[in-house]
Amino acid sequence: MKFIADGMLGKLTRWLRMLGQDVTYSNKFDDSVLIMTANKERRVLLTKDLNLYKCAIAKGIAAFYVEGQTEAEKLAELAKSFDFPLIIDLKRSRCPKCNGRIRLTLKEQLADIVEKNTFIYYNEFWKCKKCSRIYWQGAHWEGINATLEKANRIKG
Ligand SMILES: [Zn+2]
Repeated sequence: MKFIADGMLGKLTRWLRMLGQDVTYSNKFDDSVLIMTANKERRVLLTKDLNLYKCAIAKGIAAFYVEGQTEAEKLAELAKSFDFPLIIDLKRSRCPKCNGRIRLTLKEQLADIVEKNTFIYYNEFWKCKKCSRIYWQGAHWEGINATLEKANRIKG
């Protein structure tokens, strides 16, 4: 399953990519580009715009109208409809920033790149193959898990 998200769903896009979903996103895409790309690349259009949703469906394009208010609600809706687990497995994650694949990277190679305290404190670092951004399970990780737990409860 591949997705394309409208300009209002930047935050949701980052979550979905962390969960391993392939999501195309740019806040510069207008409605016609969204529909064209969804059609060409066989992506499901995710949108918070009811008119755009109706327009896509009328054209025979797979689309999903996102109704949830919080990220947890949105994630629960999507996980239920498209049947994927709300668990982050970094081996499957995509770069939240660019949708590239991330891979475990040798810590030694990052000594000059990552901030010193981070380098000392953490052992597993992941690097995006496309944009070279570095990720680790830092202090924010608890917040990430809290949101996913909430989403799992809503999903039921
Ligand atoms: Zn990237």
